[in-house]
Formats: sequence, C-alpha cells, structure tokens
Amino acid sequence: MKTLIEPFKIKMVEAVRQTTEKERGKILKDVHYNIFMVEAEHILIDFLTDSGTGAMSDRQWGAVMIGDESYAGSRSFFKFEKAVRDIMGFKHIIPTHQGRAAERILFSMLAKKGQAIPNNTHFDTTRANVEYNEAEALDFVIPEGQIPEKIHPFKGNMDLAKLAEFLKKNHQKVPIGMTTITNNSGGGQPVSMENIRQTAKLYKKYNIPFFIDACRFAENAYFIKLREKGYGDKSIPEIALEMFSHADGCTMSAKKDGLVNMGGFIALNDDRLAMQARNLLILTEGFPSYGGLSGRDLEALAVGLREVLGEDYLKYRLRTAEYMGEKLIEAGVSIIRPTGGHAVYIDAKHFYPHIPSSQYPGQTLVCELYKKGGIRAVEIGSVMFARKQKGSKQEKPAVMELVRLAFPRRVYTQSHFDYAIEVIIETFKQRKKARGFEIVWEPPFLRHFTAHFKPVSG
Ligand SMILES: *Cc1c(COP(=O)(O)O)cnc(C)c1O
Repeated sequence: MKTLIEPFKIKMVEAVRQTTEKERGKILKDVHYNIFMVEAEHILIDFLTDSGTGAMSDRQWGAVMIGDESYAGSRSFFKFEKAVRDIMGFKHIIPTHQGRAAERILFSMLAKKGQAIPNNTHFDTTRANVEYNEAEALDFVIPEGQIPEKIHPFKGNMDLAKLAEFLKKNHQKVPIGMTTITNNSGGGQPVSMENIRQTAKLYKKYNIPFFIDACRFAENAYFIKLREKGYGDKSIPEIALEMFSHADGCTMSAKKDGLVNMGGFIALNDDRLAMQARNLLILTEGFPSYGGLSGRDLEALAVGLREVLGEDYLKYRLRTAEYMGEKLIEAGVSIIRPTGGHAVYIDAKHFYPHIPSSQYPGQTLVCELYKKGGIRAVEIGSVMFARKQKGSKQEKPAVMELVRLAFPRRVYTQSHFDYAIEVIIETFKQRKKARGFEIVWEPPFLRHFTAHFKPVSG
C-alpha cells in the first residue's frame, strides 16, 4: 500500500481550540508579536519543539502506575538501568532530570579553562555548559552540513580531516570529544556509522574519552538502516548497540527519543568518572537511583526507550518530515534538504526575498503562520543570533534565516500535517503582502524569548 498510516490508534484525546484569524491577530499584537508569549491554549498546532512534547503510550501510562517511589534502590531504577544497558551497552547509568543536567555534571568534571571540546555541532545547552566551565566548544561538521540545499545522506557527519588536524596540534587540551546524533543544530541530520567509527578512532588515538550526545539516537539508527551500505538487514537495536560500542559514554535528553515528557541520563564505562558523577549528582539532582526523577518517570522511560526502537514507529516518524518536505518543495517553498528526523526548516530569506535580514523575515513567517492557521513555529535566524556590532547601531545578521517546525512524537495525525502544509502554502502565495519587523524592546541575553516587536510601517 502507498498510504503510510500512523502506527497507533488513539485511546485518549486532548481537545484543541480553534480561534479565528481576527482573534489571532489581536493575540499577536497583545504579546508584541513574540510567539513564545502566546498561551499554548491559543495554539492549534504546536511545532515549537519536539522536546518533551510527545505522547506516551498505554504501556508507558500503565508503567507509571507501578512506579516504586523508594528513595534508595527503587525497583523502577533497576528497570530503567537495564533498558539503557540493554540498548546502549554502557556499564554505569545515572539518571538526571533532563539532558542539560547530564551535560552540567559531565563538563563540570571534565572541562576546564584553556581546553577545547570538539563536536559535529554543539547543541545550545551543550555549548553553554562547556563555556560555563570556560572551555571552548568547537564545531567540525562537514561543509555540506552548512549548505541548506545541498543533498547528502549524512549531513551531520564530522569533518574527519579537520578533526584530525585539530587533534594533531591540540590533543593535549582536549579532555573529551563528542558527536551529536542526530545533529540537532544542523537540522536533525544523521551521522553515519562509518563516521562514528572513524571519529572514535581519532579520539582513541590520543586517549581522549568519546561521548555521544544521544538525544535522537533511534532516529539516527533508522537513517543508518535506510542509507548506509551493509545496514539494510540489521535491526534497530543492533545498529544502536553498534553506534554506542564505539563510545565511552553518552549524555541523553530523554525528552526526545526517550518518548517521555521529562528525563535524561549519563551513561559511561569509566568507574572513577562514574563515581565522581554520582557524587555531583547527589549535590544537585538527588540520590543516584532517582537523579531528579520520580520512580514513575523512570518506569515510563524504561518502556519508552524500547518503544522508540520500533521500526513501524521510526518509519512513520521519518516519513512525516519527508512528506511535509516533499509537499513544500513541490509548491516552491525552499527548505533544508534532505529533511532530517524531527523537523522541517523553511528558508525564510527565500520565502520573503523583499524583507531584508535587518527586518527579520523569519519573524514575519512565524507570525504569519500563526495568524493564518494557528500554527506555532520558531525563528532560527537573526532574531536569535544577530549581534550588535561594537560602535555601530547595525547588527551583523545570522548566516541563515530559518523557521523550524519541530514535530512532537506521536501527537499529530496526517490531517494535522496536511492542514499545516496548506497553511504554509497559502502563506507563501500571499508572501508579497507580508512586512518585516523591528525590535522595540529586548533583554540583554537570549532576546528571542521575550523581545517585543512591531511591524515596520510601509
Ligand atoms: C534537547 C537537547 C539537549 C538538552 O536537553 P534538555 O533535556 O533540553 O536539557 C542536548 N543536546 C541535544 C542535541 C538536544 O537536542
């Protein structure tokens, strides 16, 4: 059959509320055109993020009811520990409340002033935790990974030549090496097994511990199955185990491929480092058998980590982004290609060629999608990244003006996506009428969350 259906049926529903275009126009104005400030109640389809927004299964909710809330040595912890160990093969498993807590612990042990930590691309929180410890966060993704329209099967790959050259000269100041699967900041693009293997080999050559940022490991494993020679007949658990066999440990935000709304962990083999991590964990997260999570959270996570490996699920997951991508390209909308695992990224510069970067075309698109269809997306462009230059009123614009639509796991159906596609295409047809924005107020850091905007008069 050509029709790919959602590999689940619905047992519980949550109503979404329709609003009119007029109401949404007023709401936008009231929040100074900042989509982060719109109450979720007023959003019809929320593509703000795929993090912690997924739907749990009946089995996960069933597991929630048998959570063991013992302070120490909870039965739920051992189930969680076994799931992670079965899937990833690491010796020590340490739960945390989410991914950045795992990162904070890892880098406060390993990153120091004057050191550098390579990655294909550091995710925001990873970079922030490296920099908080005064080390440098370096990105070595292949050049293809930075060109939106460039087709490459593994656009998240590490540039091995560049990494090799860097390590040759600087290996003494590298306390840990990383790779992120899939490469979130680069559009959810996968990393090949061969690239993971070669990256590990380079780090090993200099005795540098190699950790994987594993947030979307299952999506990455399925891309390997689809695209890498020799993996077509392997199962997802086999591929996952092989990916992690090359690493000394990982950090994970379980809010992604853990299929839960909150959770994370560090997994690693080194006994001494694990002991140190547990001591730090006790300081801020809690006892090592719960690490900031309830017993019921650990139960749901133990089930989610196994469910995410299901091929029917992964096929539907990856196909969702691909399907939306195909329809948008057909209509002439420019996106990052090929589509990654968890999101579609629209090129807002191409969408609105008449709006210069200084008037934030991505911001315009985010507002128009909300006004037209109640859809929430996020700007990843000059609102987020442009910086004022010293001694000038002008900003240096971001390299790309993107709008990301990230997909919650198992939440929306095909007709939700068809609706979203229609909204985007309608918005595209009316693109000439759209106007840019100016920022009328901004905070000193991370302005995209709270800045106030005003449409430019024209
Ligand atoms: C989400 C994410 C993190 C941080 O995890 P949180 O659970 O949000 O703290 C780290 N790395 C990557 C690649 C992510 O996508």
